[in-house]
Amino acid sequence: MAVSKEQVWFLRHEGHGVAIVRAESFEQATVAAAKFWGVPWGKVAAGIEVERTKPLVTNICAKCGKMFWGGKEILCTQCEKAQREEDAEQVRIRRMLRERYKQEARMMKKGAEDEEGRGAEVEA
Ligand SMILES: [Zn+2]
Repeated sequence: MAVSKEQVWFLRHEGHGVAIVRAESFEQATVAAAKFWGVPWGKVAAGIEVERTKPLVTNICAKCGKMFWGGKEILCTQCEKAQREEDAEQVRIRRMLRERYKQEARMMKKGAEDEEGRGAEVEA
C-alpha cells in the first residue's frame, strides 16, 4: 500500500476563520484553504497560519473522530456543515468589529482635529 504524505491541515486566516484541508505541503494546503474560502490565493497566502496538523486517516472525521463513509473527504457531513456555518459567523463578526473600529477611529480622529481647531493638512 502506498503511504500518502498527505496530512490534515487546520489553517487559520484573520477574516476568514479556519479551513480544514488535506495536502502534502503547507503550500498545497494554503491553495486548498483559499479555494475553501473562495478567495484568490495571492490575497490570503501571506496571512495564513497553521493552527495544527493531523495525520490523515481515511474515513475518520478529522474533527470529531467519528467513522464515516467519505472517500476523500476529511470531515463528516455534520462537521463539514458546522464548519461552514461557523466560518460564516466568524466572518460576519469580524466584519462588524472592523466596521465599528473604523467608525471609532474616524470619530477619534475627528475629535482630535476639533481639539486642534483645524483639520488635517496632509493629504495622503
Ligand atoms: Zn465529524
